[in-house]
Amino acid sequence: MNIPDIIIAIDGYSSTGKSSFAKVIAKEFSFLYLDSGALYRGVTLFAIENGLIDDDCTIDVPELEKALETLDVHFGEGGTYIADRCVEQDIRSLAVADKVSPIATVAQVRNYVDRKLREFGSRRRVVMDGRDIGTTVFPDAELKIFMTADTQIRAVRRADEMRAKGMEADIEDVKKNLLERDYIDSHREVSPLSKAADAVELDNTHMTMEDQMVWLRNLISERFGC
Ligand code: C5P
Repeated sequence: MNIPDIIIAIDGYSSTGKSSFAKVIAKEFSFLYLDSGALYRGVTLFAIENGLIDDDCTIDVPELEKALETLDVHFGEGGTYIADRCVEQDIRSLAVADKVSPIATVAQVRNYVDRKLREFGSRRRVVMDGRDIGTTVFPDAELKIFMTADTQIRAVRRADEMRAKGMEADIEDVKKNLLERDYIDSHREVSPLSKAADAVELDNTHMTMEDQMVWLRNLISERFGC
């Protein structure tokens, strides 16, 4: 399939399979895949390790804003880095998942991440997943998908993913975390999670990856005539 130079924005609730879907899309169409949540997780890990967020999620916003001026969270070989340290494994922990949504409410953090994401968007042929890609980061993205799935299924999938990486995962803890993040992400003041008016909804509760790709290929051929 010969698809044009577009940006594909995938938004939706936590653990709806956005990044798995985006990775398969990137591979099939030779697009660059960008995981925007990983940048928020990187900033969160930094904040935890530097005492800028405490156990009840109170954030030292002035100090965090100051740190962002020199903080270097980026994508490199094998995933996400803070300066020259690969943090791909660390940012997937429940400890980071518990604090990332409060950190992502801070306007300066969102500006920091948005700046990094937009640098990649200028080249098109990018598929990006997150919560506000189609609404705020790339409102002009040519294809916007909004993903949903049943909560229990999402929790089971995320727990399986964590266990496959050798982490401990209790389904009830994982579910609680998903619902908390969904709530904070949908209710924050800056760029809340919401479906863009021109996004197409995909509920993948009962879909395999191949079902989702069939759905996408149909959508692309209808939309772009290819
Ligand atoms: O996608 P992932 O679950 O790794 O994202 C972690 C968190 O980062 C989300 O729960 C959300 O709080 C935040 N996020 C965001 N905007 C994005 C991507 C992620 O606020 N575009």
